[in-house]
Amino acid sequence: MARNPRYDILFEPVKIGPVTARNRFYQVPHCTGMGVQMPKTLAAMRGVKAEGGWGVVNTEYCSIHPTADDAPYKFCSLWDDDDRKVMATIADAVHEHGALAGCQLWHGGEYVVNRASRLPPISVDGSPAHYLWPLQTRAMDRQDIRELRRWQGEAARRAVQAGFDIVYVYAGHAYLPFQFIARRFNHRSDEYGGALENRVRMLREMIETTRDAIGPNVALAVRFAVDELMGDHGVAAGAEGREVVEMLAELPDLWDVNISQVTNDSMSARFSEEGFQERYVSFVKKVTTKPVVGVGRFTSPDTMVSQIRRGVLDLIGAARPSIADPFLPKKVEEGREDEIRECIGCNICRSCNNEGVPIRCTQNPTMGEEWRRGWHPERVQPRRSDKRVLIVGAGPAGLECAVTLGKRGYEVALADAADEPGGRINAECRLPGLGSYARVRDWRLGQIAKLTQVELYPASRMTAADVLEFGAQHVVIATGARWRRDGVGMASHDPTVAEGAPRIFTPEDIMAGAVPAAPVIVYDEDQYYMGGCLAMKLVQAGLPVALVTPGGEASSYCRMTDEHDKVQARLIELGVEIVSNRQLLGFDGGGARLACVYTGREFRQGAASLVLVTMRRPEGSLYEELAADPAALTAAGIAGLARIGDCLAPGAVVHAVHAGHLHARELDEPAKGDVPYKRERAII
Ligand code: ADP
Ligand code: SF4
Repeated sequence: MARNPRYDILFEPVKIGPVTARNRFYQVPHCTGMGVQMPKTLAAMRGVKAEGGWGVVNTEYCSIHPTADDAPYKFCSLWDDDDRKVMATIADAVHEHGALAGCQLWHGGEYVVNRASRLPPISVDGSPAHYLWPLQTRAMDRQDIRELRRWQGEAARRAVQAGFDIVYVYAGHAYLPFQFIARRFNHRSDEYGGALENRVRMLREMIETTRDAIGPNVALAVRFAVDELMGDHGVAAGAEGREVVEMLAELPDLWDVNISQVTNDSMSARFSEEGFQERYVSFVKKVTTKPVVGVGRFTSPDTMVSQIRRGVLDLIGAARPSIADPFLPKKVEEGREDEIRECIGCNICRSCNNEGVPIRCTQNPTMGEEWRRGWHPERVQPRRSDKRVLIVGAGPAGLECAVTLGKRGYEVALADAADEPGGRINAECRLPGLGSYARVRDWRLGQIAKLTQVELYPASRMTAADVLEFGAQHVVIATGARWRRDGVGMASHDPTVAEGAPRIFTPEDIMAGAVPAAPVIVYDEDQYYMGGCLAMKLVQAGLPVALVTPGGEASSYCRMTDEHDKVQARLIELGVEIVSNRQLLGFDGGGARLACVYTGREFRQGAASLVLVTMRRPEGSLYEELAADPAALTAAGIAGLARIGDCLAPGAVVHAVHAGHLHARELDEPAKGDVPYKRERAII
């Protein structure tokens, strides 16, 4: 299909100093949980982005010296020439598909504690390290400042030798050059402290050093956070954020501007809209003639065009949209924008960095699997048989399995008991802040509508007899899971309340519209988004709510998705009482018996109803009934029976989508043995 002329502007080349990006699609640096230790994994992933049409593809943070050692988190490095050879493989993978490769040189200052290198952390003025860590930082003296410039210069030279086209000075996300700028980090009394001109000196000098090191053929980008959302306490776009850009306006070849810290920059969909950074960064183009890139979870080409036309940005920056759909630019270019797999803003990709594992994505199950499993986001291997496949359950697992099998060429029937396909998504996307989660369902339904070999059967509850009669040769059960009503969960392996007791609700009850008697306890052992979202929904409906949890805070897992600060703040602002470190022992209709998780001391929390968010029970009965009668399966011509997603092991949506994709990729393929993917490791 031809490109819609409305989007032509997105495909204009953009000159960035001495280099030219082929279009305005710019993959900004983003963490991957891979780093320099997984170069093949990383190169394959970045290469796919370039293949998908991004004009510029950047690395993640790339440390310039062992005093910037972020272990156990995964980062790149250019400490020596061995690192240079590794980083060259990333630049090569990007160049192979015609994109520019950028390298984000980084020093974290007091934000890194050098757990592995064991070097004393350095900082502007000897502040405590940012993380809870029993070692303080050491204030940089003049020699350290000279050394910092030398490390930056040498790393920049290595970046150029490795083949990178753009080299960064990174003063975003409150890292070291930014720490010099922000008053609260900088209490120096020498020429690097005091007036803003002095606090900017370090960044100015690093730009000069980098410029000298990279020479005339490579571009220099500055990544700068123009606002920290802290008002007067931090750098603000209406004050020093703007002044810094004004002071250095023409020095870099590119301004990559955002808000700080990472949790603000990557704000999840629960707390931000597409384009949410515009109000902070829109001044930048007014004070520089250099090209400007910014982010804002852009997935709509119309929004992107509007950013360009209104003079907000020159390049459309994307981390998460490029993770959810590495082929986003190609799809726009080919007039297939309706096929863009839009990021849902869940921040599962952020959790991978925080957990130190390779990146994964709810929408894109191939993310992080490009090298180790050989998965491509747009290509699947053709089917190996004429088997007709029946999938029971059209939640995230069943939908993804159907789409991928359909693309492989299998004839697929997808049946669901509900009138509307989508499974858990249908209810969850109506919870506060989760509207964009509907994209998990809608993208897959859009694909199914184009796949003639996939038939959708809504309102079709399947019994074992129905499955046997259907005439499929392969059956996939994806019947999901239901929240438990008996209180069993992480804290208690035995029931704490009688199943079916009055005034006790599950998340499904509340999502279906049940209104519990007030006051309400939401008891959250799950500790991801469900408990917090239900508390918000109920309190917004006017009910007094206490969120009780054995965790030390509300929605503890949201620390991994970088949502945790905002979840706490929203709950507190809404008036939800947060009762932490308390385990449920029982409920009598007038209140709950709770125990301190450390001492066992008992408490009573008055409540007229209880919402249990403990754990989910797989809906496994259909699978179990079928699996129990192999002879009936054989007689029905069913050669394969599998269960996937929540009906096997209940988890987050990301797990169900991956399970559906994995099963579809592996159908009829040769067995891979006990280690089903490649690993990067030293082999002795
Ligand atoms: P997952 O996250 O694993 O995809 P969900 O709970 O989101 O699981 O979706 C499971 C889907 O399976 C639901 O839409 C539900 O209606 C459907 N389902 C469960 N049991 C049956 C059945 N016996 N026949 C047809 N559909 C079923
Ligand atoms: Fe977007 Fe979620 Fe994928 Fe991250 S994991 S790119 S937030 S859909």
